[in-house]
Amino acid sequence: METSIDTRCVQGGWKPKTGEPRVLPIVQSTTFKYDSGEHMGKLFALEASGYFYSRLQNPTCDTVAAKICELEGGAAAMLTSSGQAANFFAIFNIAGAGDHIVTSAALYGGTSNLFTVTMKRMGIDFTLVDPDLPEVDLAKAFRPNTKAVFAETLSNPSLVVLDIEKFARLAHAHGVPLIVDNTFATPVNCRPFDFGADIVTHSTTKYMDGHAVQIGGAIVDSGAFDWMRHAARFPGLCAPDPSYHGIVYAERFGEAGYIMKAVAQLMRDLGSCAAPMNAFLLNLGLESLHLRMARHCANAQTIAERLESRADVAWVNYPGLPSSKHHALACKYMPRGTCGVIAFGLKGGRAFTEAFMDRLKLVAIVTHVADARTCILHPASHTHRQLSEAQLAEAGVPADLIRLSVGIEGVDDIFADIVQALEAARTA
Ligand SMILES: *Cc1c(COP(=O)(O)O)cnc(C)c1O
Repeated sequence: METSIDTRCVQGGWKPKTGEPRVLPIVQSTTFKYDSGEHMGKLFALEASGYFYSRLQNPTCDTVAAKICELEGGAAAMLTSSGQAANFFAIFNIAGAGDHIVTSAALYGGTSNLFTVTMKRMGIDFTLVDPDLPEVDLAKAFRPNTKAVFAETLSNPSLVVLDIEKFARLAHAHGVPLIVDNTFATPVNCRPFDFGADIVTHSTTKYMDGHAVQIGGAIVDSGAFDWMRHAARFPGLCAPDPSYHGIVYAERFGEAGYIMKAVAQLMRDLGSCAAPMNAFLLNLGLESLHLRMARHCANAQTIAERLESRADVAWVNYPGLPSSKHHALACKYMPRGTCGVIAFGLKGGRAFTEAFMDRLKLVAIVTHVADARTCILHPASHTHRQLSEAQLAEAGVPADLIRLSVGIEGVDDIFADIVQALEAARTA
């Protein structure tokens, strides 16, 4: 039976059989016992499925991955130790030295560094494109060695709503998959596979967890991209793997080939596995994701409207505001709402911005976003500090941008704190 996203948040993943624990058990074990050496040998050869070592697979982690897979409507999924690991694996699984990726320039600062500094050192080239450009202009970024297109469905912190169908058309016209980071929207508000995206990544550290208690990531594959049709471009999936006895992942595992390869090769060699305890905590967060997202969005909408009407506020960027450049795309791709994050700038420059932030009482300055408690950050001096002025502009992060992550407290309390801090900063 096809259930609603709300039911999947609560009951997806762990489906106990009679007499089993009602709540997802934490399998806190690195290893698993077998009665025969032959059985264990088959597991290592990927000829039988079963658990043997938690760096590769663990029942608690796999169950939570299965829930996220259900939420996204995918074919296969895996957890990683962080969102950074998820985005790295998602691309490195199909690209190596000499390859090229087209990516939206509207990126989270950590992803921008990962792509343009660290992965560049590995020999992978990234072309950053303005996601709002028309299709004909975006097509110019592709090269014969392009292996994927990457973008955030709702970018952190510039809040660009991706035209997913446009990006999917472009990627598919060039025979490559569209990989999207759906962290900010979450599957409650946006289901990228419905619009043609092929692979979804998450920093589960954010709304999915929602309580700021664990760092984690996830990769979900829709199973829709036909790797074998582009076999020459993706030899890692479509030609025999000598490190696994000549297995051809796309043939042997069908829709799960991409995820199986990422587990068998990348988890094996690079680690970055989720911890069972973290997966358990993430699962608790997922059980209320649908309720929290609705409240985050309702609170953020109210705060954005009230900020926009104030004389000391220079500008407000929230896709739920009709004044937003991305309002129409938000209505199309995220009809239930976007997220709780608002970007805004104050009149009065950097000194006033700092004075304002230092006077907040209920709203906390933290290097985090997307949890139950309202928090605030100045990306140009915090998360995006490594970027140059030009890179900041390219990522859509003006120097005066304040990132306000609206929580699920009482909305009048949040706004009252903002107002008292603005007044106190003005008279300081
Ligand atoms: C936070 C974040 C990441 C990185 O995730 P971590 O869990 O912190 O490693 C990646 N993408 C987006 C959009 C994020 O907000």
